Amino acid sequence: MQKLILFFSFLLISTGVLAQADTSAFVKFNDFNNAVLNGGVKKAEAQKQFETIIKEIHLIEMRSSRINRSNTQWLFPLKGYKSNAIGGTHGNGYFDKGYRYLDGNKHGAHPAHDIFINDRNQDCIDDRTKKPVDVIAVNDGWVIACTNQWSSTSDMRGGKFIWIYHPVDKVFTYYAHNNTIFVSPGMQVKQGQKIAEVGRTGYNAYKKRSPTHLHFSAFKLVDGIPVPYNPYEQLKQAKTL
Ligand SMILES: [Zn+2]
Repeated sequence: MQKLILFFSFLLISTGVLAQADTSAFVKFNDFNNAVLNGGVKKAEAQKQFETIIKEIHLIEMRSSRINRSNTQWLFPLKGYKSNAIGGTHGNGYFDKGYRYLDGNKHGAHPAHDIFINDRNQDCIDDRTKKPVDVIAVNDGWVIACTNQWSSTSDMRGGKFIWIYHPVDKVFTYYAHNNTIFVSPGMQVKQGQKIAEVGRTGYNAYKKRSPTHLHFSAFKLVDGIPVPYNPYEQLKQAKTL
């Protein structure tokens, strides 16, 4: 009996220690992402950081049975909306020429789709449902960076944003301009889980000329750096909540 108790305490301690190590890797990545946003991260350093975090996530994932490894079909990132809410015509709001992740907040292009909600008076409340609009995870994954800090005097363009890594297809998704976020780095999220509510945070998104929307991007790792790709077809074929 005593041996059994000893064994279980060992198990608890060792998993506890691991959990702590895991979280610290995510926090490190979150700090690194903030450094990128503020400028001044070298490419070699970025590649090393991404390599570390991806390795870490795959290690955690091997121990986790909660990730659905067979599902690559997305869920549309806004509850109650579908692909006809995507701005532009046939997804032409997306253009990535000249974009580099390492340029941080000063980046060019628009490697994203803006998905608009019904909010004529810009109070972040849906005109039809009279409720905030839920931002949901498009697939199972891990929150690798986010911020719940933003003020209207900030020049940060993403506002309150979230980065999620999806181990199944090795894709990153990015959700910007949120009003409130409900996740933190190191958290595992399930497909369809509410991660935020649509908002108007961000240098341009806050301005009156900007209709309320979610800014949504998808990235793949190329040479250890996140490179955007156009997720329009995936969004069109996504299931809806
Ligand atoms: Zn946008």
